[in-house]
Amino acid sequence: MFSIYFHVPFCLRRCHYCDFITYAGQLDFLPGYVDAAVQEIRQLRLAAGNTATAADTVYFGGGTPSLMEACQVAKLLEETRRTFGIRPTAEISLEANPGTLNPRKLKELRAAGVNRLSLGVQSFSDSELALLGRIHSRQQAEESIHWAREAGFDRLSLDLILGLPGQTLEAWQENLSSAVSYRPEHLSVYSLIVEEGTALEKQIADGLLPEPDDDVAADMYELTQEFLAQAGYTQYEISNWALEESFESRHNKAYWKTTPYLGIGAAAHSFAGGYRTENMPGIQDYIKRVQNWESGLAFPFSPANLNRAKVEPYTQMQESVLLGLRLTREGVTLSEFARRFGQDARQVFAAEIKRLQEKQLVEFAQFPDGTHLRLTQRGVLLGNQAFMEFV
Ligand code: SF4
Repeated sequence: MFSIYFHVPFCLRRCHYCDFITYAGQLDFLPGYVDAAVQEIRQLRLAAGNTATAADTVYFGGGTPSLMEACQVAKLLEETRRTFGIRPTAEISLEANPGTLNPRKLKELRAAGVNRLSLGVQSFSDSELALLGRIHSRQQAEESIHWAREAGFDRLSLDLILGLPGQTLEAWQENLSSAVSYRPEHLSVYSLIVEEGTALEKQIADGLLPEPDDDVAADMYELTQEFLAQAGYTQYEISNWALEESFESRHNKAYWKTTPYLGIGAAAHSFAGGYRTENMPGIQDYIKRVQNWESGLAFPFSPANLNRAKVEPYTQMQESVLLGLRLTREGVTLSEFARRFGQDARQVFAAEIKRLQEKQLVEFAQFPDGTHLRLTQRGVLLGNQAFMEFV
C-alpha cells in the first residue's frame, strides 16, 4: 500500500476556528505552487529510483483544494501517473468546500480522475456556519451535494462539526438528519476544538460566545453513534462512518495503518523508508526551495524538507498500535503487526495492554485473519486515555 498526499494550503478566508497551515489572500501564487508541486514529485521519483511503486490512493487536502482549477488537479494527477504511477483501482479524493464549486468544475474534476469527494459542509444551519466563519450557506452546501451527484460522484463524504458554542442536542440532531437525507456514502464528524490564537478563542474570551460544553459534546457524540447506526452507517474510526466497508476512506485508513505515504506541498509530511519528513510551511519558501533542483537526494527526502527524522522501530510499533486503535471496528491486526515488525504486539506491549484491559478500554476480537486488538465501546468514548499508553 502506497499513498500520495497533495497539500493545498489556500483558502478564501480563514474560518474562525481554524489553526491549520493554510493561507488566505495568496491565490496569485497558486499556479506557481502547482508547478512547484510537479517539480517536487519529479524529485521524489528520481530519489526513489527502482524502489518506486504506483499509488493506491491519492488525496488532495487543505486548505481548500477545490480552489484549484480542474486543469491544475489534472496536471498533478498526470505527473503522478507519469512518475510513480497510479493504480487503475486507486482511490483519488479531493476535499472541496461549498462556495468554491460549480457544476462545470465538478464534472471536470470527475473527468480528471477524482473519484471521491469530501465536502466540508460542517453544518446545515446558516447561523452555525456564520459562527464558524465558513464562507458558505446551507443552500450552497445543498447545491454542492446535488451538483456532485450530477457530476457522477458516487463516493461522497460530508464533514460535520459538533459541539459548537451554544449548540443544543436538538440542533445537532437536525444536522445529522439533514446529512443522512442525502445518503452520502461516508460521514466524518469532528468535535470542535477551540484552538489557541483563533478568532473563535478570542470571541469566547471576550464573552461574545459561551464556552463549548464538553459534557454536551460527549452526549452529541453518543447521539451520533446511535443515530448513524440506525440510519445504516457503520462506524469504522473514532470520527468516521461509512454505508459499506468499500466506502471507507482508503487513504485515511492507510495513515491509521501507518503504511508509507509521500506528502507533496508546503507543510506536507511524508512517512517512507523509515523516515518522517516535514516540508517548509510558507508558500513562497516552498516554491523557492523546490525550484532549486537537488541531485543525489536519498528517498524520501525532498528539497522542500524542513525536518527529516528517522523513526526507530520501537516508535514505529508504538505508532502502529496508537493509530491502529483509532480503527474502531478492526483495531490492530496482530498478524499484520507480526509480519511487519517480526514481533508479537501482545508481548511488546504486554504491560500497556494489561492496564487498558483492567480499565475495560481494549479487547481482543476474532476475525477471519486472526486476532485483533481494538477499543471497547467504552474505549471509543475515552480514546485519549487508551492512546496515552502508546505515546
Ligand atoms: S476552509 Fe478549512 S482549512 Fe480553510 S480556513 Fe476554513 S477550516 Fe481552515
